Formats: sequence, structure tokens, C-alpha cells
Amino acid sequence: MSVRVRFAPSPTGFMHVGNARTALFNYLFARHNGGKFVLRVEDTDLERHSEEAVNVIYEALKWMGINWDEGPDVGGPYGPYRQSERLDIYREYIEKLKERGLVYECYCTPEELEEMRKKQLERGEPPRYTGKCRNLTEEEREKLKAEGRKPVLRFKVPEDQEIVFNDLIKGEIRINSRQLGGDFVIVRSNGMPVYNFVVVIDDALMKITHVIRGEDHISNTPKQILLYRALGFNPPQFAHLPMILGADRSKLSKRHGSTSVREFKEKGYLPEAFTNFLALLGWYPKDGKEILSMEELIERFDIRDVNSAPAVFDTTKLNWLNQVY
Ligand code: GLU
Repeated sequence: MSVRVRFAPSPTGFMHVGNARTALFNYLFARHNGGKFVLRVEDTDLERHSEEAVNVIYEALKWMGINWDEGPDVGGPYGPYRQSERLDIYREYIEKLKERGLVYECYCTPEELEEMRKKQLERGEPPRYTGKCRNLTEEEREKLKAEGRKPVLRFKVPEDQEIVFNDLIKGEIRINSRQLGGDFVIVRSNGMPVYNFVVVIDDALMKITHVIRGEDHISNTPKQILLYRALGFNPPQFAHLPMILGADRSKLSKRHGSTSVREFKEKGYLPEAFTNFLALLGWYPKDGKEILSMEELIERFDIRDVNSAPAVFDTTKLNWLNQVY
């Protein structure tokens, strides 16, 4: 089985160092294993994304020396993939789930959901969608529609299913489907499919073998595994990267200074030093060598050596690397 990984950024207008490290680890993993690195822009949030924001991603990757494998500019007919161009594909799979009776329309308004949540919290219960709209009759649905309500589509979470996956960094993760907060939304009321759904379709159709991403997505993974099962796809291997903290050990944010790739580029940092520095955020080569070119990083990179504890963003080290290069 040949390795295929992907980097799937949302075009937010800047490339955060956390995202840049995710891209780099995917790239090193692909190159080390003679596999492919796919770039997929997650731009289904049509109101928020702009071409400029997409270019920020391309620019950051190119500066860092990360080249994606599929796409017209690198010889292939497809890619970088844009989710906004794949809506017909997602619709096809939504139909499949409908045919199998695995989804249903939910007409609850945000206010009603908030009310539900408040009551559960008052009773000391964890908030979850109760499944109120699971068994609406055709007549009830028509009535709700006539009130001008627009439904979302929810996926029926199975009652009591064990979900287990072996994370390449975090080890075995086990969760029961009861802990997932109830039936979750896969299509919004404006008709747009949500992240948890499209990511599964794309990763399966693009034959992604390893999903390497930030640990902030770890709570999404069990939901995605349920969708893989519902659609009859094999889930990939998962590897969730540790968080990056500031020097004071709080979550890395603007308070800590520059956090976007463009800022480091504009400050005149050498891309080689920056990339070397990012690679050492949570990973360390076995031979202890600290000054490493891209080729040397590729040669040594092993995802199983990534630390599961948070990494600390220490610019002193970056400055040092920038000088020795
Ligand atoms: N668009 C998501 C993000 O930027 C991708 C998450 C994933 O890799 O599955 O966080």
C-alpha cells in the first residue's frame, strides 16, 4: 500500500505556525515513505473564504519548500483540490446516506437547541441532541416547513457502539458512541455539508492512508469513523500532533508575537532555518542532530517519534538556527 497523506487547510487569511508544522510533518512523512502529499483547500465556508486567503496558503508552502504532488502545475490533472469544486460529489454521498435511512431532517431552531442544552446542564447531564426530530411524520415535517423552518441533516449515531482507533502518536483511543453528544449535523440549513462529513468523503476518495493533523481534531475522529463505517469505507490511520504552546506554556497566540508564516518571512528569517525549527516542535531525530536540511529531515523523520506532550515555541532556538544557517 503506497502512502498518501494530505494537508487540508481552511483558508483563514493566514498560515499559523501550527498549520505550517502539520503541513511539514505530512510532507516529511510522505517523502520519507516514498508516498504522495496532497493539498486540499477546505473552502466550503463560502462567506469567509477569498482567493487572497487561498494564495496565502500556496505562498507559505512554497516558501517553506513544501511541494504538493497533484495538480496541473506539477504535472497532474487534479489538485490542489478545492472542496468548493466538489459539492456534487458530496451530494451524491448524502443521497446514499438518505437511501440507507442513516440521516434525517431536523427542524429544531438554534433557540430550541439552546433551551435543550440549558435544561440538560441544569439536570447535571452532559449536553446532547436528544433525537427529537428522528421520528417526525411526513405531516409534522410539512407543518414545520410551512412555518418557514429550514432543516439541517443529522446523522443517526448508533446507540451503543465502541469506537477504537490506534493513534500513531497518542496510542489507543477508545470511546463509546453514547459520548458523542447525540446525532450530529452533516448538512447545514443553507445546504452546505459540514467538515466532519466532507473530510471523510475526500479522505476516502483520495485514498488517504494516514491522516496527520492537530490534536484539536481528536474529538472529531470518532464521528468520522462512524461515517466511514456507514459509507462502507476503510478508515485511514490517524496521528494527532501535540499542541504548540508559547514560552509561558499557554496556548500559542498573537500575545506571544509572530504566529504566522508570512510574518517570519517578512522579518527576513531563512526558510531553511524556519522549517528546521518547525520540525523540532514535538519531534526529535534519534541521532540528536539539530541542524538539518530538508533532505536530512526527510531521511530521519519517523511519525512514531513525535512526542505526545505539547511542544514549546521558543524563538530563541529559531534565532539560533537562523544564525547558524
Ligand atoms: N480544515 C481543517 C483544519 O484546518 C482540516 C482538519 C483535518 O486535517 O482534518 O483544521
